[in-house]
Amino acid sequence: MSVAVYLGRFRHEDLKSHWASAAAIMGPPPASTQSAIPASLAASTTAKHMSKIHSDSSTAATADKVTKSDADWRAELTREQYHVLRQHGTERPGTSPLNREKRKGTFLCAGCGAELFASGAKFESGTGWPSFDRPSAKDAVSEHDDRSLYMQRTEVRCARCDGHLGHVFPDGPRDTTGQRYCINGVALRFKPDDG
Ligand SMILES: [Zn+2]
Repeated sequence: MSVAVYLGRFRHEDLKSHWASAAAIMGPPPASTQSAIPASLAASTTAKHMSKIHSDSSTAATADKVTKSDADWRAELTREQYHVLRQHGTERPGTSPLNREKRKGTFLCAGCGAELFASGAKFESGTGWPSFDRPSAKDAVSEHDDRSLYMQRTEVRCARCDGHLGHVFPDGPRDTTGQRYCINGVALRFKPDDG
């Protein structure tokens, strides 16, 4: 039964008295809710709330977060990029041309263009995936518990667009950080210094 049919059962006068009695039960209109909280308190509550959000985000990179609809990502990325970045996929080892990339430059996120890894951090891991001992900035990537595939791993995502990049393992070069950022080449774009 539609609302129109339901209301149609009331004569106009019935409706008027109906709303009048509802108003009596519910009390005056809620103008008082606005003034119940002093403006200063309301402002400070908001400020506190905002500062909490800010401290939670812990990274400067999240200030310019890139968020897009699934349809937009699907339209912008190649099928392989979409599979890795947005569907937590993994490229076949040894398939990325970036495994052989030796020039000086910066590895950017293939999704949003954020700077993720400097060429100086790249090393030969022998795994078939581009590997780095550190991100270009501490807050360039975010790390997340990943318990998929019956393993406990630490997933690495682009901090700006949340795109899945790969995983980080504690078996990297001992003479530097000891970390191995094992990254899908398809999630990266290389920008040479001289290009
Ligand atoms: Zn990104």
